[in-house]
Amino acid sequence: MPELPEVEAFRQYFNIHALNKAITSVNIVEEKILKGSSAEKLLQFCQQAKFIQTSRRGKFMFAKLSSEGGLLFHFGMTGDFRYSNSNEKLHKHDRLVFNFKNGYYLAYISQRKFGRVEYIANIDEYIKSQRFGPDALSITPSELQRQLQGRNRKIKSALLDQKIIAGVGNLYADEALFQAQIRPDRLTKELSADELIRLAKKIKKIMIHAVQQGNEYGEPFSSDYFISFRKKDGCCPICNTLLSRLPIAQRTTYFCEKCQK
Ligand SMILES: [Zn+2]
Repeated sequence: MPELPEVEAFRQYFNIHALNKAITSVNIVEEKILKGSSAEKLLQFCQQAKFIQTSRRGKFMFAKLSSEGGLLFHFGMTGDFRYSNSNEKLHKHDRLVFNFKNGYYLAYISQRKFGRVEYIANIDEYIKSQRFGPDALSITPSELQRQLQGRNRKIKSALLDQKIIAGVGNLYADEALFQAQIRPDRLTKELSADELIRLAKKIKKIMIHAVQQGNEYGEPFSSDYFISFRKKDGCCPICNTLLSRLPIAQRTTYFCEKCQK
């Protein structure tokens, strides 16, 4: 599943290819991906308009339109964008196509149709209404502390909650907890201020690194990262203890019993 760093890469790709280009028509190949929004509105506000700005919150990308409102893109399990010359035929998994005046098009791809595109009348209000937490790429220790205040649940489960912090997926949550030396099943109330500061700093650092590396989901980070060792029969890169596994929030969680307290 595309995680925050991949969605950030998609956004940068979109910025390079699709921003400020006149849209002449939109081809809705698969209406199913327009969950929640009517095709009519999407066509009405996209055609003869331009995308003028993008933003991202967690794994959601938003593209503001010059007409009114904008679009939300969610990439599901296998989403992506592809910018091509209009001489090139559509590919099998292209679900929505924006045709530009310059003779090129941008296809939104979703192989398994779990992706979603939606017309949003007001992006800022939408983000507020969804109560997304602060974005993981720019989270500060005080924001994390504030978001966890008054809650009492396992820290790993809290990190995966998009309303607490937006954009931390399963692998990155395990990586951050390992680097911060915190057990994933610790309760948030029991974490000290120092531990939360350490954790917030690690989350941000890992996300920045992943965006810079352009990491694909599942591809190993450099070998000193926990993600590379995070597998069945994997051992801790620091103390070589066999990693423990626990299901937390229905997700497989790996950690080191010795290094994480
Ligand atoms: Zn260890």
